[in-house]
Amino acid sequence: MAKQPMLKFVELERQMPEKREAKVRSNDFKEIYAEFAAERAAEQSSRCSQCGVPYCQSHCPLHNNIPDWLNLTATGRLREAYELSQATNTFPEICGRICPQDRLCEGNCVIEQSGHGTVTIGSVEKYITDTAWENGWVEPPKPLEERPESVGIIGAGPGGLAAADMLRRAGVQVTVYDRYDRAGGLMTYGIPGFKLEKDVVMRRNKQLEDGGVTFRLDCNVGEHISFEEIRQAHGAVIIATGVYKTRELQAPGVGAKGIVKAIDFLTASNRKSFGDTVPEFEDGTLNAEGKNVVVIGGGDTAMDCVRTSIRQGAKSVKCLYRRDRANMPGSQREVANAEEEGVEFVWLSAPKGFVGEKAVEGVMVQKMRLGAPDASGRQSPEIIEGADYIEKADLVIQALGFEPEDLPKLWGQPELQVTRWGTVKADFLTHETPMEDVYAVGDIQRGASLVVWAIRDGREAAEAILNKFDAARAVAAE
Ligand code: FAD
Ligand code: SF4
Ligand code: SF4
Repeated sequence: MAKQPMLKFVELERQMPEKREAKVRSNDFKEIYAEFAAERAAEQSSRCSQCGVPYCQSHCPLHNNIPDWLNLTATGRLREAYELSQATNTFPEICGRICPQDRLCEGNCVIEQSGHGTVTIGSVEKYITDTAWENGWVEPPKPLEERPESVGIIGAGPGGLAAADMLRRAGVQVTVYDRYDRAGGLMTYGIPGFKLEKDVVMRRNKQLEDGGVTFRLDCNVGEHISFEEIRQAHGAVIIATGVYKTRELQAPGVGAKGIVKAIDFLTASNRKSFGDTVPEFEDGTLNAEGKNVVVIGGGDTAMDCVRTSIRQGAKSVKCLYRRDRANMPGSQREVANAEEEGVEFVWLSAPKGFVGEKAVEGVMVQKMRLGAPDASGRQSPEIIEGADYIEKADLVIQALGFEPEDLPKLWGQPELQVTRWGTVKADFLTHETPMEDVYAVGDIQRGASLVVWAIRDGREAAEAILNKFDAARAVAAE
């Protein structure tokens, strides 16, 4: 009888790829996890129990066919594993690196629920596609026929690029407009290199360009070109602009020098990694070197700021969060990584104001305790009177989340409808807005979210547009 290649979770322990030592990795911006060796990837894949109802797949926003590509990896059929994996995911190697797997696929793996440790789905997904790149299997979009229709995409983040890829593969003429000088959105300028090295994103941009996608970079829609002009130039338009308005603290002294926004700090750091000249980094405004840094917030952006500060050579790095560890929104894996690298978390603490003469010198900290649960079931933080103190700081980074910019106003488009949160109103399946042939995807539609959701939205919008183009062709041919 043939040997069963799978279901090895009882005899084989869960193993992640090797993680670089904290002391070494905190000196650079390279990714912290190594690649699986081929045998290890096969071995870890073989732990999967090939569930009839795979919860990993239903909790992956792209519904990736995880059990099948694990089986193919376990049996050494990597090219087939890659073909299957890329059929549902435009950027599998990126998701493998930065999806919060503990909340998505891996967090719902049944063998974890039975106490054996989840299958390392993300690392295997990364391994499959990195191997495909090494072997030249990843190819630019090559349409079988060119189509006359064109689509304009505003925003070159994962949502816009996923749509661009699908549309181009179908032969549509695609132009992507972005206000930055490089494509990739937050994958390029938000997420630090220690989670996602930049050449991983740049090679994807190049592939799209090689496949015939036109990029108009350094092009701020609303300033260098109007929304109306883009609408006139294309059969359909996709808005994929993300959310960039920083939620700011309202507290005495918040305007002091030395209090900066997370997105500015992270963008400057990523630009430095590209070798760009960044005056605000050079003059120290956005550089943590030698400083006592306090980051305010408990989400993934805050985690990226504290770990970037460590790498820039900060004297001390503290993270203030008003709830406790168990109630923070950021990934526990990232908190553990940050602690290993020397970050101190100050739980149940909120800023009351800032002190300093010419520039910030400290944060007035208010101590909190967790009270009764609110409507969402989360315990609300309450102030402990008389427990305030001053935390020394000469760089304070605000990482309290992002909101959408006011697009109808910025673009002079009052008919572009927005929700009460300011996100663009659009159908959740087709992504079409009430404005005909205008679509919205990613963070600008759903609010600050994840790369994997933006990819899903982009693919769905592309499909809806192709269906509409095909329907119009059929009518014209009648
Ligand atoms: P974006 O990636 O924001 O791209 C939008 C693009 O639109 C940008 O390139 C912008 O320049 C362009 N644009 C905006 N306005 C205009 C205009 N007027 N004209 C022209 N171009 C314009 N998600 C994860 O899954 N894992 C993570 O580890 C993770 N870490 C994160 C860390 C940070 C610091 C941040 C801020 C976010 C992180 N996210 C993470 C979230 C993730 O990056 C976003 O959900 C995702 O990038 C959204 O994709 P998008 O395509 O909607 O928008
Ligand atoms: Fe898991 Fe993300 Fe990959 Fe889906 S895309 S399988 S959620 S790592
Ligand atoms: Fe395999 Fe876990 Fe998915 Fe089941 S839930 S198919 S064991 S990865």
